[in-house]
Amino acid sequence: MSDKIMMKTPLVEMDGDEMTRIIWAMIKDILLKPYVELNTEYYDLGLKKRDETDDRITVDAATAIKKYGVGVKCATITPNAARIEEYQLKKMWKSPNGTIRSILDGTVFRTPIMVKNLNSYIPTWQKPITIARHAYGDVYKNVEYRVNKPGKVELVYTSEDGQVEKQLVHEFKDKGVVMGMHNTDASITSFARACFNFALGEKIDLWFSTKDTISKIYDHRFKDVFQEIYENEYQDRFEAAGLEYFYTLIDDLVARVVRSEGGVLWACKNYDGDVMSDMVATAFGSLAMMTSVLVSPEGYYEYEAAHGTVQRHYYNHLKGMKTSTNSMATIFAWTGALKKRGELDGSQDLVAFADKLEKASIQTIEDGIITKDLDRLLTSAERRVVDTEEFLYQVRKRLDEIA
Ligand code: NAP
Ligand code: MG
Repeated sequence: MSDKIMMKTPLVEMDGDEMTRIIWAMIKDILLKPYVELNTEYYDLGLKKRDETDDRITVDAATAIKKYGVGVKCATITPNAARIEEYQLKKMWKSPNGTIRSILDGTVFRTPIMVKNLNSYIPTWQKPITIARHAYGDVYKNVEYRVNKPGKVELVYTSEDGQVEKQLVHEFKDKGVVMGMHNTDASITSFARACFNFALGEKIDLWFSTKDTISKIYDHRFKDVFQEIYENEYQDRFEAAGLEYFYTLIDDLVARVVRSEGGVLWACKNYDGDVMSDMVATAFGSLAMMTSVLVSPEGYYEYEAAHGTVQRHYYNHLKGMKTSTNSMATIFAWTGALKKRGELDGSQDLVAFADKLEKASIQTIEDGIITKDLDRLLTSAERRVVDTEEFLYQVRKRLDEIA
């Protein structure tokens, strides 16, 4: 009889590429399988498999998340021209994250992993700043056109009952570029609810920003939806909890965030969230010190690391060189997913294990055992830079000590 923790419902496991794929397998072998009877439904989103299946595998994985409720994803390559050559691809497949997000809809929440001996580049930031990134539409689902000669570009709306409305976008005298993008009230509404719910759950203020003075219809709609949902559904609970909802222009909010002590939820439109979450993560230490979860309006969860496949380290690894790649974000993707799976299944053991693994990981860094990316920012004099694998064994040692 094994005394490993059992899992009632399968977790949707999405493997990925390059260095993060190596780390993925190591985390499972060193930190998970010895303690948990892993029950996962495995989808290989490695680029080779995506190419073989004409990217069907990515859609299947997203569908499985809808079936089971919780998924965990490794970083994956988004192919470009160089990758087509490198992997001899049939096609420049779309970003798997983009595909999964457009199937699940929802909001991505990114929070820095705080450790005591890591200094933020911004000294006033004492508490984590969570970014809520709307994961649907805008420039990520756009239509673009290259104008090659003089001509008129118009925006044409044709309603189902035949009403037609036209607006001039631009009268081109010469070459140029043009783009059309959209969002829906339904998606903006679920984005707003996801943010208000998250802020209430975490007991933190919610700050939201767009550029509604310039985008008087598009961005203004976001502002109005948030205000309506707040007044109709959340204001009472926010006031009872002593929390604030606050809207301002994005340029004003950037300035306020920099001056703040942190501890807020910053809701961003899709592109703003893409950019600002990398800024916030880096200011707090490293892209690898950030958790990321997609929460869909139906209550599905997808956990991932916010960084990429760390290609440069992978090529060193292939050459047989030792790497010192930070696995924190990938460990926390697993702990986040296991914790949520445990909560949904009422498995206290699984939740407790995930908590312990997070504690052990943080303790390892606080003991001065770090990967190379953290060397410059660490405040403690005592430190030892270790390789990718050694870091995981050091976490395991502390995990066994806690237990
Ligand atoms: P990246 O993998 O995020 O790495 C960029 C650089 O950041 C690395 O070379 C490394 O710096 C540092 N870094 C990132 N993660 C690190 C970690 N865990 N530990 C230590 N250092 C880390 O971005 P990329 O190399 O530009 O992209 C590689 C591939 O990732 C691309 O094919 C891209 O499509 C894909 N990507 C995937 C996702 C995703 O699936 N979520 C997100 C972004 C990019 P040093 O080299 O200075 O050590
Ligand atoms: Mg990005």
